[in-house]
Amino acid sequence: MTDLGLADVAVVGGGIAGAAACVALHRAGLRSLWIAPASASGGDRVGESLAPAARPILAELGLDGLTERPGHRPANAAFSAWGTDRLVERNAIVHLEGPGRVLDRAGFEADLRAAADGSTGRCREQLAAVSCADGRWRLELAGGRSTTVRFLVDASGRASVVGRTLATSRRDDRLVAACAFLPHRDPKVEPTPATLIEAVEDGWWYAALLPDRRLSLAYFSDPDLLPRGLSRDLPAWQTSIAGSTYVSHWLADAGFDADRPPRLHSAGTTWLEPAAGTRDGAGWAAIGDAAAAFDPLSSHGMTTALWAAARIGKVAAAWLGGDPEPLSAYAHAVAAGISRFRAQRAEVYGREQRFPDAPFWRRRKPDGVTALPRR
Ligand SMILES: Cc1cc2nc3c(=O)[nH]c(=O)nc-3n(C[C@H](O)[C@H](O)[C@H](O)COP(=O)(O)OP(=O)(O)OC[C@H]3O[C@@H](n4cnc5c(N)ncnc54)[C@H](O)[C@@H]3O)c2cc1C
Repeated sequence: MTDLGLADVAVVGGGIAGAAACVALHRAGLRSLWIAPASASGGDRVGESLAPAARPILAELGLDGLTERPGHRPANAAFSAWGTDRLVERNAIVHLEGPGRVLDRAGFEADLRAAADGSTGRCREQLAAVSCADGRWRLELAGGRSTTVRFLVDASGRASVVGRTLATSRRDDRLVAACAFLPHRDPKVEPTPATLIEAVEDGWWYAALLPDRRLSLAYFSDPDLLPRGLSRDLPAWQTSIAGSTYVSHWLADAGFDADRPPRLHSAGTTWLEPAAGTRDGAGWAAIGDAAAAFDPLSSHGMTTALWAAARIGKVAAAWLGGDPEPLSAYAHAVAAGISRFRAQRAEVYGREQRFPDAPFWRRRKPDGVTALPRR
């Protein structure tokens, strides 16, 4: 087995959290090894709304120009039909923090990876096994190579491949997202650059015009409430769309074509308790979705991933220098953020009162009692 040589920290995961963490570790003067499989690159990625709060975090990482590049657009107009049959406009011009961005998500991630590649050594392999002894992590990669480090960052997304072996995994719900990218077929109509959220009896719809004029469309529901086999059944997908009011009208009026069935993604609220700590004298921290994956209603997953990644450089440097306090402060800050988010989420779902008997909304009642559907 080949040894990969010396690094202070290993980062597992090639998404936004992992790439940004490599940049932060480099800025903190640490040598990191980035374990990011090649499959992390390329293709469409769901989730393109970047909150305005991400801007100062990107600046802290020296990456402030990234979202201003061509291919992204300002998120000025958002409409929602939530708790009311009327469409309500939320215009970003009235927000002091300014508009967020609708990203070319794949392009944004590619730019982040390029910045990370300049900061770290990268192994394009999966982490296959991890063990810990005498204050060091021993990591074995799928290709047969191995390495040892003193601090480990789990940025492996919802899989949380290391964190879930070190901490308790928690879950609020089993929300699932059926996602598709719809081509724009009508050259006579200029599609409106807007985002639309619509609550319906069995869940809610999200639609956003992408910078390349396709529509990102997602239907959020519980696994037992979705039509069976939806990811292979175009007529069932089209029937589901027809069950919406504003979304289906937008598609028809603007000339978007639901021409293939959606892909399903886990989208529930899950988190680790705690999100960081030590094991046998070695330090670890989970960041991004590996630490806490939020219901996408918040549109804060990417921002939270960037926030945690930006912290991790100083946290790891302090820990390696013998000061455990920033690591413990990080774990507390994540726990406080999760509590805040869960309270806000209960409040937002509680605002929808039109479907009192529908299982989707009853399961999210703010009394904290959530019956988890299983298949
Ligand atoms: C339907 C949906 C819509 C969303 N919409 C938005 C939105 O509009 N705005 C927003 O801010 N957020 C949104 N989110 C959330 C956002 O996408 C996530 O919070 C964000 O992608 C988290 O980034 P991450 O790097 O932590 O995880 P990921 O992007 O999941 O990256 C994890 C990486 O780890 C790798 N990995 C896994 N196992 C291993 C292993 N054993 N070894 C090595 N690597 C491994 C994976 O290949 C992957 O590349 C949405 C999420 C969903 C599901």
